[in-house]
Amino acid sequence: MILAFVEHDGGPSGLSLQALTFGRSLAIDMGEELEAVVIGEKALPIAEGLAAYGVSRAHVVEHDGLDEYAPEAWAESVVQLLSAVRPQVVIAAGSERGHEVMAHVAARTELPLAANCTAAEPGEPFRVTRQRWGGSLLEEAHVVGSVKLLTIAPHAVQAEPSAEVGHVSVTPFIPTLADKDFRVRVMDRMEKTGGKGSLTEARVVVGGGRGVGSAEGFSALEELARLLGGVVGCSRAVTSAGWRPHSDQIGQTGVRIAPDLYIACGISGATQHIVGCKGAKHILVINTDTEAPILARADYAVIGDARQVIPALVAEIRKAIKL
Ligand SMILES: Cc1cc2nc3c(=O)[nH]c(=O)nc-3n(C[C@H](O)[C@H](O)[C@H](O)COP(=O)(O)OP(=O)(O)OC[C@H]3O[C@@H](n4cnc5c(N)ncnc54)[C@H](O)[C@@H]3O)c2cc1C
Repeated sequence: MILAFVEHDGGPSGLSLQALTFGRSLAIDMGEELEAVVIGEKALPIAEGLAAYGVSRAHVVEHDGLDEYAPEAWAESVVQLLSAVRPQVVIAAGSERGHEVMAHVAARTELPLAANCTAAEPGEPFRVTRQRWGGSLLEEAHVVGSVKLLTIAPHAVQAEPSAEVGHVSVTPFIPTLADKDFRVRVMDRMEKTGGKGSLTEARVVVGGGRGVGSAEGFSALEELARLLGGVVGCSRAVTSAGWRPHSDQIGQTGVRIAPDLYIACGISGATQHIVGCKGAKHILVINTDTEAPILARADYAVIGDARQVIPALVAEIRKAIKL
């Protein structure tokens, strides 16, 4: 059996749906069932909806302390579930949370963990292809262990519901947890400034680099993103300058994006940035330099000053949608 750890926030996360799609295809290859574990507040309705992704059984972890995220307690719950249901493979999204929980599971069980997998081939040996060096290198590896722990690289597969929707049986699972499992836990949440969607899952991303010129210069990018139903991201030069928070950074040491459209404004296109945006379906570059490396990745480019081009673009969009 393949067990998938499903993250959710109102609905299953997009990356978890990708991991479920990956897990379903692996389960078919192995002739096994796909099951899921769901933890946290409102886990039950999420679990009930997982039949759409081919899950035959969903384990809902029930414990008063688990409504909010607590990495060690969540991992310990998964560890106890593993002993009870004995899967052959456990998969999770290659998200911050997926990696954190799976790393704790691996440390507690001494099982092998292969992170950021893009493919898996069951058998002896059990082979995986996984991303290294921020995705700039693909590595083939053998995973040796009674249970294989895998995280799935963001956007390695597209999330696709199952063609045949069966029935999911939902079973509660009650772990035994100690105070020490709650040493790290979410105490409070606050809305991000600008209260926007997730960069990882946005369909349009407007990215700004050093060429935007200042923190204030990003208000034009915010406006463009708002009109296009998108989200603003940035390069590391921008986070290093303190113009935007690190959570907005796209790249090797930031977030990986895979939007339909990435508008890269005043970004040179360093390898470490490209690693984060190469999943974009279309890239529009706005840059003053005809030699900027990012132009090699561009589907469309405007050679010009972003501080003039973006307001002009905003004005045209406003005209087109009669705002
Ligand atoms: C270990 C490591 C990890 C890293 N991780 C990341 C990462 O995750 N993400 C990341 O982005 N970087 C990362 N970097 C940094 C990366 O190497 C680059 O330094 C960074 O991406 C450069 O940012 P930038 O393109 O905004 O700035 P620059 O390279 O300075 O480019 C600015 C661009 O703006 C253009 N420009 C200037 N003025 C204008 C204007 N008015 N209008 C339009 N265009 C203009 C210029 O022509 C230029 O192309 C990492 C580096 C290392 C060593």
